[in-house]
Amino acid sequence: MQKTAEKILVTGGAGFLGSHLCDRLIQAGLDVLCVDNFYTGSKRNVQQLLDHPRFELMRHDVTFPLYVEVDQIYNLACPASPIHYQWDPVQTTKTSVHGAINLLGLAKRVRARILQASTSEVYGDPEVHPQREDYWGRVNPIGIRSCYDEGKRCAETLFFDYWRQHQLQIKVVRIFNTYGPRMHPRDGRVVSNFIVQALTGQDITIYGSGAQTRSFCYVDDLVDAMIRMMGSDADFTGPVNIGNPSEFTMLELAEQVLRLTGSKSKIVFEPLPQDDPKQRQPDIALAKSRLGWSPSVCLEDGLKETIRYFKEIV
Ligand code: NAD
Ligand code: UDP
Ligand code: UDP
Repeated sequence: MQKTAEKILVTGGAGFLGSHLCDRLIQAGLDVLCVDNFYTGSKRNVQQLLDHPRFELMRHDVTFPLYVEVDQIYNLACPASPIHYQWDPVQTTKTSVHGAINLLGLAKRVRARILQASTSEVYGDPEVHPQREDYWGRVNPIGIRSCYDEGKRCAETLFFDYWRQHQLQIKVVRIFNTYGPRMHPRDGRVVSNFIVQALTGQDITIYGSGAQTRSFCYVDDLVDAMIRMMGSDADFTGPVNIGNPSEFTMLELAEQVLRLTGSKSKIVFEPLPQDDPKQRQPDIALAKSRLGWSPSVCLEDGLKETIRYFKEIV
């Protein structure tokens, strides 16, 4: 009998990053099982794949056990924007922690390689800049962001304990702010907010003074890094930072969006949310050396693609 294509499970596959990942895995000739409870994702994000013979979509909540047969697992299920993850914080922690336990249990049973979509939020509001993987972070355990930050930290702990205790093949990527088409238009993240506001003539809302910084990675670069990480040497577990080191203030971002959309929207200043990190920039030396990866899409080009997408949907 002919060997069938590798079967890849993508949890959170109907979300922003997950749907781009599913596209790329299908293009690469793999068999994809996309699992999602549609909490923040939608069927529309994977509509282009629904009739594909190697693609399967399953509604399932990862906080419950999942019994399927797969060769590799990308675990992306978890709301990522502050508005969404703070809506039901208990569910957010359950998704990260119970979700990780179930998927690690699955990986252990079928001996699948498993990748965790962790986050730069594990560094909290950092005292070292840029952040390297050996920095342990400064996270408030009891604040409004903690359900996400501590949930993701605990998931990393579980990955490394399954690796030590059960010799699982794990891969942990720490994703820094990523943007692109299929971001949820109302998820409150800064890039989607500014673009939607600019395109609809609303005020551009800068929280705080706008001097806080972020480093934005375009989604295609991010997906490329995740796939390279999954295929990396067995001895390389990560954690590895994935992001674009070009750092911008929120004021600079607002000005870029206004310029590229030609919008007449005004910039207004609103209060800074609690525990909002002042600066964030990845040190990607490890990704460069172990994955041969660095981002290739600059902010202007990525914003143009993202603006094109939002023009169609708003
Ligand atoms: P997203 O909200 O678009 O995608 C998350 C997906 O997970 C959605 O489709 C949602 O419906 C699904 N989901 C949520 N809870 C679930 C559950 N209990 N069971 C099954 N599915 C569930 O967010 P995204 O930006 O695509 O983020 C994907 C992953 O990457 C997340 O784990 C996030 O923490 C991580 N990440 C993203 C960024 C970023 O900038 N986009 C940065 C760091 C980390
Ligand atoms: N699990 C799952 N799918 C599987 C195997 C396990 O969802 O194919 C879940 C199972 O419900 C369990 C969790 O993963 O609660 C952890 O599994 P593990 O084998 O590590 O622990 P145990 O079953 O001993 O609690
Ligand atoms: N932000 C802003 N205006 C908005 C949305 C966000 O100024 O309309 C700021 C937010 O306070 C933060 C930065 O932009 O300092 C990035 O916010 P986002 O929620 O996108 O990501 P995170 O804070 O998780 O990095």
